Amino acid sequence: MFAERFKKVRNKMVEKNVDVLLLSVGPDLPWLTGYKAMPLERLTMLVLPQDGPATLVLPQFEIARVVQRPELFSVLGWTEAQDPIKKVADLVGGAKTLAVGDHTWSRFLVDLFAQLPGVSWRRSASITGRLRAVKDQAEIDRLQFAADGVDRIGASLQAGEIPIIGRSEADIAADIGERILAEGHAKVNFTIVASGPNGASPHHESGSRIIQPNEPFYIDFGGTTAEPEGQPGYCSDMTRCFYTGEVAAEFQEAYDALFEAQERGFQAATVGTAAQDVDRAARNYLAEAGLGEYFTHRLGHGIGVEAHEDPYLVEGNSELLESGNAFSVEPGFYVPNKWGARIEDIVIATDDGPRRLNTTSRHLAIIDE
Ligand code: ZN
Ligand code: ZN
Ligand code: ZN
Repeated sequence: MFAERFKKVRNKMVEKNVDVLLLSVGPDLPWLTGYKAMPLERLTMLVLPQDGPATLVLPQFEIARVVQRPELFSVLGWTEAQDPIKKVADLVGGAKTLAVGDHTWSRFLVDLFAQLPGVSWRRSASITGRLRAVKDQAEIDRLQFAADGVDRIGASLQAGEIPIIGRSEADIAADIGERILAEGHAKVNFTIVASGPNGASPHHESGSRIIQPNEPFYIDFGGTTAEPEGQPGYCSDMTRCFYTGEVAAEFQEAYDALFEAQERGFQAATVGTAAQDVDRAARNYLAEAGLGEYFTHRLGHGIGVEAHEDPYLVEGNSELLESGNAFSVEPGFYVPNKWGARIEDIVIATDDGPRRLNTTSRHLAIIDE
């Protein structure tokens, strides 16, 4: 698996005329090598030349954590008094075009700029983005495992197994976080509980607001799966909507339109369709329903080792969906000072058409306690 990825990355480097790829913190490195850099001020960096051996430069005392793959990369430790930037610069040699991981801290990058004058820089996404976006079967299996976990939580919520009315958003979010971990995730990435008027903010921070009777709320939650050492985790991400008590007719009407818009986005997500056309399929429907101005974000994002990655379903992205792409389809409406709603599933584009990984009912769930 990792050998295959090294090969694809090197081929892409040839295609894009990139001499050396540098990967530090962020998702590219675990996707490519299985090793995740500590997000610390001590530098970890894979130096991967287009041709020639790759080297993982990292703090000497971290070598114990590396699942070594000597056929793919060697390991070069640096001790506390050494300058790791110099070690990386030496390995880069005279290379002229470098791609560097999108998440690399500027403290490393600025120092590399100084050590490597005259170099032309690219973002690693130009190499890894499209490659990471096409999932192999093992990755789809991990995404399905992640989706199954949040689906079980979604079903519990819909069945009323988690008390809601009279509790704060933050308390409910904490319950969901615990369940995400219990469902085989190593990490909770977010638990957005957005109730009543807070629903108008798509990324609302769950807070002290108490859930009232007779109001809508939505919950958007996900995490990253726990995997054996040397294997990257994969992300879950799902949003479902609820109403405490009697549903206002105006909300139900808007929700029905949202439900249909999500279905249209899903149906449009076929192999060979431009990403922006998937966005348009859902957006045009919401616009016809008079909700266009309230759908303020793109339709979706790719998902994998990172919660948001290529491909992005957004106006302006004319890239065609490929078999194996994994992404969210998540239209919403957000009415300032009033309420909001979003329905989100993770979808795989396959040669047999789009396939939802999430199975939790997408209908508005009525909660009475
Ligand atoms: Zn989001
Ligand atoms: Zn989400
Ligand atoms: Zn999402």
